[in-house]
Amino acid sequence: MRIRVGHLYPDYLNIYADRGNIAVLAERARARGHQLDVRALGIGDAVPVGQIDLFYIGGGQDREQALVARDLLTKRDGLHDAVEAGAAFLAVCGGYQLLGRSYRDVAGDDLPGIGLLPLETVAGERRMIGDVLLECAWAGETLAGFENHAGRTILDEDAEPLGRVVHGFGNDGVSGCEGCRRGRVYGTYLHGPLLPRNPWFADQVLADALAHTGGETGLAPLEDVLEREAHDVSARRARARGGRR
Ligand code: GLN
Repeated sequence: MRIRVGHLYPDYLNIYADRGNIAVLAERARARGHQLDVRALGIGDAVPVGQIDLFYIGGGQDREQALVARDLLTKRDGLHDAVEAGAAFLAVCGGYQLLGRSYRDVAGDDLPGIGLLPLETVAGERRMIGDVLLECAWAGETLAGFENHAGRTILDEDAEPLGRVVHGFGNDGVSGCEGCRRGRVYGTYLHGPLLPRNPWFADQVLADALAHTGGETGLAPLEDVLEREAHDVSARRARARGGRR
């Protein structure tokens, strides 16, 4: 199968090598005989509704977020239509914030979001930085990663987090929630090494994208020896950091 990926603003939102997540998806697809076709969706580009199985948006500083926020609004309807038709979406950090309704940045400026996820974000003074370990009961798995954000994200009452914080700050440092999940849309603060360290989540995203292609969604298991080791190293670092902060 061909899995069509729309990478939003790769030139602006790519800190902590978020592009590495795409490389992982491509390799894991290839290992199962599928091909990942990645196209950039930059400023001024229309959303090719129906022709993208997975949208991806990475992290960025407030400055880069401000540069893309207005353009993202022009893509809002197309992205909503695509998601309603079953496309998958993975959003990391700065991109995650813009998938909510709004983001008030460190300077106090309000950036509009596209409301694909039921949440709002306001920047605080202290940055929340370090290794994170999450419990994802919905998948019976854990996610290990790294966070670095000033934004405090508040989920609506009925919103589903991506995971519960075991170690680290998560969305806001107090709720014990990290990320958000709605159907095939996932948002998280976990950066670049998210998919390299968490192969089950990479496969979840791939399976969701495959479901949109209408093809078979089963993914044969891979060995993942190094990947599991990377997860465990990261989880140990998060544990060494101690309890929730
Ligand atoms: N600018 C946002 C924040 O600090 C996002 C940062 C990021 O993507 N690392 O909250």
